[in-house]
Amino acid sequence: MFGLGIAKGLLLTFRHLFRPPFTVQYPEERRYIPENARTNLLWFEERCTGCSTCAQACPDGCILVETSPNPDGTLNVLRYEIDFRLCMYCALCVEACPYEAIQAGGPYDDAAYNFDDLYRDKHKLTEMAQEYLRTHDWTYPNGDKAPRPEERPLHLGKPARGQGAFDPEVGLGGGPIPLAVTVKGERRAPAASRASD
Ligand code: SF4
Ligand code: SF4
Repeated sequence: MFGLGIAKGLLLTFRHLFRPPFTVQYPEERRYIPENARTNLLWFEERCTGCSTCAQACPDGCILVETSPNPDGTLNVLRYEIDFRLCMYCALCVEACPYEAIQAGGPYDDAAYNFDDLYRDKHKLTEMAQEYLRTHDWTYPNGDKAPRPEERPLHLGKPARGQGAFDPEVGLGGGPIPLAVTVKGERRAPAASRASD
């Protein structure tokens, strides 16, 4: 019948007049986000073995892992870097990691004024991860309990080399370059560094 569609549409509008709004007053008010939602990536150094499975699984090549062997056969993670300028938050790295050292979760309002700030090294990633744990009762997004700062081995979360970018002339931490260093993942240096290359 002519006009029935219009009446139905108006009825729907009329019904919503008496319902509470669906929107919230962001950023003062925020909706609940599940802990392991794909909001960001959190890398937990204390769980990472340096196996590079995540770097191999990433379709965008935005994870870089550099390791050197320890005498006991384990790997020392010299560098762990994520280029969030390229990341599409697909979480394939999360699924690939056998030790759940990289997990989905963390801040979703992670915008940056400077695009290159989205290239994050292990110290920035550790800062993000520790901030997450501190505000979540030392619990990982997957529900496991995390060690508190006083329970973490002393070398974790500390700079392993001098400040600033890796300098092949100086090596790591100002010392000699390790004899065997394995680098997995494609290094995409910030634009500023590329320009000066
Ligand atoms: S979320 Fe996807 S694109 Fe981002 S680092 Fe992981 S695998 Fe790569
Ligand atoms: S796959 Fe997991 S344990 Fe291996 S290097 Fe990546 S984050 Fe570390």
